[in-house]
Amino acid sequence: MPEPAVWFDGRVRTGVTAEPTLSTFGLHYGYSVFEGLRSFDIGGSAAIFALQPHIDRLLASAATLDIPIRYDNDTLVAAHYDVLAANGLTEAYIRPIAFFGDGLAGLGTQHHEAHLAILAWPWANPAPGGGGVRLAIARRRRPSPDSYPPHAKAAGSYLIAKLAHNEAVARGFADAIMLDDRGHVAEATSMNVFLVRDGALFTPTTRACLPGITRRTVIDLARALDLPVRETDLTVTDVLGADEVFLTSTAAGVRPVLAVEDHVYGDGRPGALTTRLLRQYDEHVDAHSIPSAAYTGPAPRGTSGPAAVLTPGGRP
Ligand code: PMP
Repeated sequence: MPEPAVWFDGRVRTGVTAEPTLSTFGLHYGYSVFEGLRSFDIGGSAAIFALQPHIDRLLASAATLDIPIRYDNDTLVAAHYDVLAANGLTEAYIRPIAFFGDGLAGLGTQHHEAHLAILAWPWANPAPGGGGVRLAIARRRRPSPDSYPPHAKAAGSYLIAKLAHNEAVARGFADAIMLDDRGHVAEATSMNVFLVRDGALFTPTTRACLPGITRRTVIDLARALDLPVRETDLTVTDVLGADEVFLTSTAAGVRPVLAVEDHVYGDGRPGALTTRLLRQYDEHVDAHSIPSAAYTGPAPRGTSGPAAVLTPGGRP
């Protein structure tokens, strides 16, 4: 198998997996920011979904952690497509990561080099767990937003999530719903949470969760279908009293939740509204994933959401 190609500090290279050394600051202090994107095969070309919102979130996360990214938008866009082409990938997961390199003398980073790498690996549907998952309620909570800004997708924020995930898996669940510092529902360990009740959707505000790009897309799709959507504080009682529950993320899309702790929803199969939104989301991703040749650049300021940012085109 050929060595994977990685976009690293400005160009596609092979053999760089060992280049960051064991003194890498980001490794020791969990200090890096990253993204997770997906690409799909459209007529033999790699078409990336929601590239611009992911680049925007990466830059915002990096700014929060004061990690400089010295590449302009066009370079970052091209880099994502280049790493796919270099690996011969169309259906893939793409992982850009920005981090500080060598140097462990204290927490000062003024003399450290900031690196940006973009990795990609094969990733085809269906993702595991696509039929639905059972969730625990985690006993560990998300930190207060005063302590850690949840909008930055930073490695360190996954430490508590990983412990909660470990505990859920040890108890026989696929994942866990985490509560925030006030005891309200925040999100799952790496996915946002939605409840369905009486035909309406409810999801936590972004006070204590990552503002997921899939979350935003699902809210927009639901509103386009005239489904009421409320971003509001939710409790465990709300979760257990819901008609349906589902999770969202780039990796999983819309993932039905079949049970939370020992409470099973309905007949234990994905709910009707969840299934409808899952299909809508998959169709939306299919129609709005963009091959390199059709990429038209960032949206004008003031527009938001993947559909507005990426203009569909180039489909065979
Ligand atoms: N919350 C967390 C903590 C995550 O890691 C992710 C995955 N990026 C999400 C939510 C879902 O975000 P998105 O829909 O942008 O993938």
